Amino acid sequence: MRASDLLRLELIGIDEKTGFPIFGDSRLIVFGMTALARLQNDLIGSLGWEKTSVIYTRYGHEYGMTMALRMAELYDFDSPEELIRGGCGLQTMTGLATTSIDAIRIDMAKKQLTFSGSWSNSFEATLWLSQFPPNDHPVCCIVSGMLSGFASAVMQTEVLVRETTCQAEGNPFCRFEGRTLTEWGLDPEEVERIQSVVRIDEELSRLQQQLDQAREDLARQNAEIKVLKSLTFRAEPNREIIHRSASMEKLLVTAEKVAATRATILIQGESGTGKEVLARFIHRRSEGGGKPFLAINCAALPPSLLESELFGHVKGSFTGAHSDKRGLFVEAGEGTLFLDEVGEIPQEMQAKLLRAIQEKEVRQVGGLRDIPVQARIIAATNRDLQEMVRDGRFREDLYYRLAVFPLFIPPLRERREDILLLARNFLARLHPEHPGFSPKAVRLMEAHGWPGNVRELENWVEYAAVMSAGKRILPEHFPLTTAPAPKDPLVSLTVDLPPLDELERRYTKLVLERTTGNRTEAAKILGIGISTLWRHLKEEKPTDGKADKTGDRT
Ligand SMILES: [Zn+2]
Repeated sequence: MRASDLLRLELIGIDEKTGFPIFGDSRLIVFGMTALARLQNDLIGSLGWEKTSVIYTRYGHEYGMTMALRMAELYDFDSPEELIRGGCGLQTMTGLATTSIDAIRIDMAKKQLTFSGSWSNSFEATLWLSQFPPNDHPVCCIVSGMLSGFASAVMQTEVLVRETTCQAEGNPFCRFEGRTLTEWGLDPEEVERIQSVVRIDEELSRLQQQLDQAREDLARQNAEIKVLKSLTFRAEPNREIIHRSASMEKLLVTAEKVAATRATILIQGESGTGKEVLARFIHRRSEGGGKPFLAINCAALPPSLLESELFGHVKGSFTGAHSDKRGLFVEAGEGTLFLDEVGEIPQEMQAKLLRAIQEKEVRQVGGLRDIPVQARIIAATNRDLQEMVRDGRFREDLYYRLAVFPLFIPPLRERREDILLLARNFLARLHPEHPGFSPKAVRLMEAHGWPGNVRELENWVEYAAVMSAGKRILPEHFPLTTAPAPKDPLVSLTVDLPPLDELERRYTKLVLERTTGNRTEAAKILGIGISTLWRHLKEEKPTDGKADKTGDRT
């Protein structure tokens, strides 16, 4: 039997029993082109062309293999070449395309096949052009896949039919070339990989897993960032503590002496006085000055996290303990561990902290053995620990362990002579070229109560430097504040040395303040007449009022 002997009407008919169209003796399903266009559109729309073309090719290949086996069952062809030609005829009979072969060379013994030909009116090219403009690549995937599958079944080795030009590209017809993979020089595994279909549900579940993992990582990283933020690993600029007050000088001399020992130090002072700055000052002058300085804010972490930060934990000792952690006591080595806001440590942790300081060993959360530690401990608090001890909120034994050497940083309002020095220093650090503060701004700073201490001053200077836009800083450049005025307006005399008339005015105001605004009594104390007193007050030029809450009470 030859391919040219095939008769469409013998192959394709109607099953008398069911009324179904049949090919040979198997059921044939007829789809309309329009419906296929919808299918194609939806496939491309949801998967993209690349995946769609792989699915089409695989479908065509499967169809071609089945058809080849069916044809070989139905008829006894003269030669494999005739069978392959029969497959091409089948493409035409089933409406895929009008297929013709130009050349064919076949060697069954060597399993070699090379053939080429053309398709005209391929249903895929027609379908494409009915929906889309001419394309930049061939589209006849089912047609070429069918021929690949058919020839592969005949040759019993993988044959790949490639479309070289396509009608959908604007050519008058499609052309193809078929060869075995060996003759194409292709690696069968590579072809298998390219033509494999990734299952969307599998891909989705893989992506979902990746997403879950990423979310988990992110949550863990966020937790770590939170912890890191509460620690202070940032390098402190190597600056000394700016001061000229006698109280600070005394404090620093003491601090230098105690730095040389390894005694535990308790730094007390209001918030913003620079307790960590002092701790670093001591650390730099201590024996372990080149070793790590680790700081932790004990108020910033919940008790469970605080324990594992300080003492470390063993992998798996609680949810989220993905690996062993050494803890700050161990990490600090022979350096310094700075425990800020130590007064906020919960009671159940106080016993563990006491043990770490007293016995110089720690046990990791979930750990079984004690690890020796050497770090020097500097603790700090803005609370009155002794009062907390009296109230039973802080362990007495821990207090005495910590306060081996207590240091107290005086609040800024008690060392006003440091204010201008500090302010100039902050300004120079932020804006080296800045022309500085006007006398009234200086007075305002020195008069302010500084409840937030040095940190508040630093914020003010930073704010004013911006507001002044490179000009001298005036009182109105400072942030508005409701802070109480100082008790003694003459304090600033030690710094800004005002002219005599201003001095008169300030002193007059002070006396008026003391006499609760009684001018007669004030004049008596000052040894001047009421009219002179009146003149002193009137001469004052109005400021923005912030510095002068002690002002005229007439
Ligand atoms: Zn084509």
